[in-house]
Amino acid sequence: MNDVRSLAEIASYHAHIYFDGAAERRHAEWLRERIGERFRVRLGNWHDKKVGPHDQVMYQVSFATGLFGTLVPWLMLNHGGLSILIHPNTANARRDHLVDPIWIGRPLALHGEVLPDADHEAEAALEVNTDPTLDL
Ligand code: ZN
Repeated sequence: MNDVRSLAEIASYHAHIYFDGAAERRHAEWLRERIGERFRVRLGNWHDKKVGPHDQVMYQVSFATGLFGTLVPWLMLNHGGLSILIHPNTANARRDHLVDPIWIGRPLALHGEVLPDADHEAEAALEVNTDPTLDL
């Protein structure tokens, strides 16, 4: 029998918003602006080259656990065909990305072998850099 894992393991979440080509990048830009107008999150840098385990260019959104119930369904409605990876941040980054995430849109390949598979400190939500003014 498996041990039950506690929600307390989850220190924060990331959403990785992927794009491929000019049209998808434009939608990714549109989505980024709309997220910033509505959610208190950390919008990460644009990665126009593949980084880490990611097999396509993207940017990251770091968010606190309390936003999951609004940001994730909002992304379900507004992803516009883009692939989005939502993963928890616990003490095991490899498991977070490969075993336990959810995908909005089409799932993409991930190169999990570059991620640590051992216990480390779970990443808390990064400092917010948005100043939302709009209702959902
Ligand atoms: Zn991530």
